[in-house]
Amino acid sequence: MKQNIDVVVSEVGPRDGLQSIKTIFPTEAKLEWIRVEAAAGVPKIQVGSFVPPKLLPQLADTAAVVAGVKKLKGLTVSVLVPNLKGAELGLAAGADEIGVVMSVSEAHNQSNVRRSVQESLDDFERIVAYRNEHDPERSTKISGGMATSFGCTISGKVQVSDVMRLAENLIARGAERLNVADTVGYANPKQVEDLFRELFRTIGEDIQVGAHFHDTRGLGLANVYAALAAGVREFDACLGGLGGCPYAPGATGNIVTEDLVFMLESMGLRTGIDLDGLLEAREILERHLKGEPTHGTYVTAGSPKDFIPASAA
Ligand SMILES: [Zn+2]
Repeated sequence: MKQNIDVVVSEVGPRDGLQSIKTIFPTEAKLEWIRVEAAAGVPKIQVGSFVPPKLLPQLADTAAVVAGVKKLKGLTVSVLVPNLKGAELGLAAGADEIGVVMSVSEAHNQSNVRRSVQESLDDFERIVAYRNEHDPERSTKISGGMATSFGCTISGKVQVSDVMRLAENLIARGAERLNVADTVGYANPKQVEDLFRELFRTIGEDIQVGAHFHDTRGLGLANVYAALAAGVREFDACLGGLGGCPYAPGATGNIVTEDLVFMLESMGLRTGIDLDGLLEAREILERHLKGEPTHGTYVTAGSPKDFIPASAA
């Protein structure tokens, strides 16, 4: 973690946000968005995903986007991949972090990446081996995704023991980080705190753990608070809450970056991010959206009187 930062806010809008809407952003618009958001102090941005362009035409330019922003000072550039092929492309592009998509729920994994969880784990092992061979200094980190950790739209309840087993299996195969995701917005704060406490008991405190919440049912920031209490210090978010939820039309998507930053900064936790800079980036985003809804409350309400962000104190 960078010095002077208590909590890492990781922007995932250029991937999670754009992949769930119809608008296709020109590469230049993505680059402008990412540059302005990085300049606002966002330390990590997931800029795209290496999946077949036929599946996600919105993200077909991911290699060009990585190339366009990888020199930005202080920015960790991350990408998402579903398999070894994607990881090869991510390494070739020069991403700093590769997140591998996988679900705790067997049914969700089948529907999302068309293979069993065990097959995804086998592939994860090959990805780490490939990275070790082609990047012996391990400058590109491999993160294990854990989608549907709090519930699944297909199979409903997800057992905590299954979440723990996947976490242990990922670490055993060389994961340098875990990303625990409430992919479908089912989590509640009590569940979140309990699960992360159990996770740290199971895997120890040494491995980096990020949390990914959706605000589908309005509990996104409450879940962040619960995860903070359990010791999580890295959160994914989307500028303007971009993305929505494919399972709940009209619902909000990922938690809103600017609202999250406001919450953390007002709690005395330094993110290193400037809120005005974020709103500037949001304007770029909105300029290119074609009728897609954006979300969030900080953009309309602004800061309270006499508010001093922790990062500015
Ligand atoms: Zn998401």
